Amino acid sequence: MPSGAFDCPICFEPMAGHIFQCKEGHPICGECLTKTKTRHDNCPSCRGPFPAEDMRNRGMEQLAETMHFDCRWGCGASWRPSELEEHCRNCELRQVKCPVQDCPHRGTLFDLRQHLEVDLHHGQVCHLPWSSRLHMKTSAFSRNLVAMKLKLIRHEDMAVLMRQEFKDNMLTLSFSHFDLPFKYTLKLTGGRDRECIFTGRTKELEANEGGAMVWIPKALGTDFRVNDEFSFTMSFEAV
Ligand SMILES: [Zn+2]
Ligand SMILES: [Zn+2]
Ligand SMILES: [Zn+2]
Ligand SMILES: [Zn+2]
Repeated sequence: MPSGAFDCPICFEPMAGHIFQCKEGHPICGECLTKTKTRHDNCPSCRGPFPAEDMRNRGMEQLAETMHFDCRWGCGASWRPSELEEHCRNCELRQVKCPVQDCPHRGTLFDLRQHLEVDLHHGQVCHLPWSSRLHMKTSAFSRNLVAMKLKLIRHEDMAVLMRQEFKDNMLTLSFSHFDLPFKYTLKLTGGRDRECIFTGRTKELEANEGGAMVWIPKALGTDFRVNDEFSFTMSFEAV
C-alpha cells in the first residue's frame, strides 16, 4: 500500500496520530478535525458533516503503525507513526519561529542563530559577552507595561538566548540554546556580601522544559538592591 494513502486530505501530512473519520468513513487527522469542526466545515471528501462525537478509525491506525513515514522536515529518516512525532519535535532540520515578536522568519535552530546575529534585529536583540553583569532598576517591577527583551549571549561558536520579562511584580529570565545545552549560573549580589545563586540547564528554543527559567520576585530584587538597582552576574559552561 502506498504511504500516500495515509495522507490527511486537508493538511497532506501522514496521519501518524489518531485517525478520525466522517460518517461515510473518509479519514482526517486529529488536528484538522478540530480545526474543521471549529469552523463548522464539512468533510472535504463527501461534504457530509462530521459526527458530533468524534469517531476514531482504529483499523487504519493499526495499519499505519505497520508502516514507516518520512520525516516532514526532509532529513531522510522514516519512522513508525508512534515514533514520528517525537522525532519531528527533535529533528535538527525542523523549522522554528524566530523568537522576536512579529518576525515571520522561520528556520532551523542553526539558521535562526545566524538570523539573530545579523543586524536585521538591531534594537530588538542585544548582544552580550559570555559572562557579564546586568543592572536592573527596581522600579521596573512596578511598571504596568510588559517589557520583553531578548539578549543573545555569545562566545566563539557558542550561543545562548536570554528572554527577559518584567510582569506582575516578577522578573522572568529564560535561557535557550541553539545546538548544545549549557549550565547557567546566575548570581544576585547585594550589600554585606550577600549572594543568591540560581543554576540550571538551558532548554532548546521553543521547548517547554522546567529548569531553564529563573523567577526573581520583586521582594528579592528589592532586598538585593543597592541604591535603586539590583544586579546579577551570568556565566555559562558546557555540560
Ligand atoms: Zn490534517
Ligand atoms: Zn466524508
Ligand atoms: Zn527528521
Ligand atoms: Zn527574526
